[in-house]
Amino acid sequence: MEQNKYYKGHIVVVPYPSQGHINPLLQFAKRLASKGVKATIATTRYTVESICAANVGLEPISDGFDEGGFAEAKSEEVFFKSFKANGSSTLSQVILKFRNTDSPVNCIVYDSFLPWALDAAREHGIYGAAFFTNSATVSSIFCRIHNGTLSLPLEEENMPLSSIAGVPPLNFRDLPSFLRLPESYPVYLAMKLSQFSNLEKADWVFANTFEELEPGVAEGVSKHWPAKLIGPMVPSAFLDGRIEGDKGYGASLWKPLSEECIKWLETKVPKSVVYVSFGSMVSLTEKQMGEIAWGLKESGKYFLWVVKEHERHRLPNGFIESVKEKGLIVPWCNQLEMLAHEAIGCFVTHCGWNSTLEGLSLGVPMVGIPQWADQLPDAKFIGEIWEVGVRPQEDEKWVVRREELIACLKEVMEGKRSQKIKKNCILWRERAKEAIGEGGSSDKRIDEFVWFLRSEKR
Ligand code: UDP
Repeated sequence: MEQNKYYKGHIVVVPYPSQGHINPLLQFAKRLASKGVKATIATTRYTVESICAANVGLEPISDGFDEGGFAEAKSEEVFFKSFKANGSSTLSQVILKFRNTDSPVNCIVYDSFLPWALDAAREHGIYGAAFFTNSATVSSIFCRIHNGTLSLPLEEENMPLSSIAGVPPLNFRDLPSFLRLPESYPVYLAMKLSQFSNLEKADWVFANTFEELEPGVAEGVSKHWPAKLIGPMVPSAFLDGRIEGDKGYGASLWKPLSEECIKWLETKVPKSVVYVSFGSMVSLTEKQMGEIAWGLKESGKYFLWVVKEHERHRLPNGFIESVKEKGLIVPWCNQLEMLAHEAIGCFVTHCGWNSTLEGLSLGVPMVGIPQWADQLPDAKFIGEIWEVGVRPQEDEKWVVRREELIACLKEVMEGKRSQKIKKNCILWRERAKEAIGEGGSSDKRIDEFVWFLRSEKR
């Protein structure tokens, strides 16, 4: 294809409006912008103001809940329907806004949770590229269910997943909860399957992972799910250890208390602090919260714990006062900045895919306590496939008890296995950096896309 020297290409990137989706899609937009493509993020009116990124344009669209976003909707089902209806029309307006300018939009890069955005691209005669924010393993499993080559329910005694090329040996305990308990999550399951409803019409499919991380999966499913692996979508400055001036993704749905955290971390010796966060969506039960709280205290280690405002009342009585010397509890912070700090020696995580990639890319040993959705297979990767951490055993009520947490903290920070885990962390950090660095496997895929975007004006 001929390069058109007058046209840079213009992508409109549409994330699902949650922190774990905005971050990687915004990072992708920034990366494309750094390679000369014009990039605009189109996100909901409720989330648009939480984004601040140089080199990337911002346009509001509507999910129908402009004042309060998802929290305003009566149910997930209502939200998804409303976003589809309102999102499609307002996204069209964004495309039309640029039509007669010198930078008309030639591609929509959409979160795979929003397949209707591809229909909008088709309607306007422009390219459509799906972006999957989960692991390739998880996407390939859901893809197989969608196309009927794997059927639900999956039974504990009979796990047919080994028939999927590249998918590691998952036990029943490691399955995404939408598959383990499909009847409990009908709306989420339908949404996960809808990612593939029109995917054959997409011009490009991207996944936030890299070849070495999930070897074989992408090739194994390429006919069904022709994804290009372009991850990890973690800002390169963090991978290179040059974080001065780059404070992260450039999006925060809550006010981060990062300065206070960094000041506190500065007073601690290297690798001595446990950073604990369960991401933006998980809500722990009071029982689980109590076990983690007392486990952290009894471990005797310093800890920085992100406890979201609405969960704070679930902390045990008297806990905050009792750990004043050892712990800092904040409602939100810039996670990347914390993980990159030399005082952090362990990451207790819910294993959201972004947190998993961030821990891996920054070389921090992890204790994975998955709660739901795709966090369960992610924990399997952390503990048994890449061996960059451990997953504690939960009790029969699916609660990780304090003794188990204490044992796991010891295991990754100073126990017998810790040397091997730390070595693996260094190895994976290097592999991640290589994949996304200039000329790496992910970087090459992104370059191919940039070439394509600039090659013709559709
Ligand atoms: N995050 C953050 N501050 C926090 C907790 C999380 O900036 O206090 C960011 C984190 O860096 C990650 C995202 O929020 O990029 C959460 O995404 P993930 O996929 O890990 O989990 P989710 O929130 O979707 O469950």
